[in-house]
Amino acid sequence: MPFIIAEPCIGVKDKSCVEVCPVNCIYEGDDQFYIHPDECIDCQACEAACPVQAIFPDNGVPEKWQPFIDKNRTHFENK
Ligand code: SF4
Repeated sequence: MPFIIAEPCIGVKDKSCVEVCPVNCIYEGDDQFYIHPDECIDCQACEAACPVQAIFPDNGVPEKWQPFIDKNRTHFENK
């Protein structure tokens, strides 16, 4: 169950999550940060650190931000 970064990150990109992630699995994209679904160890540190509450477990993403589950995953395809 990887964690997902959703819409509140867009335009903010605070980076607090990057600093607390113990396995360095949060990567910068053009408009937001993304969590690598295979590298995340589900420690929840980023969720608590995010100042805009953009981070959710993949089974707890609000309905309106469900597309961000795919957006996080596809960011890492072909990389
Ligand atoms: Fe990194 Fe933990 Fe957040 Fe996964 S849950 S992205 S391992 S800080």
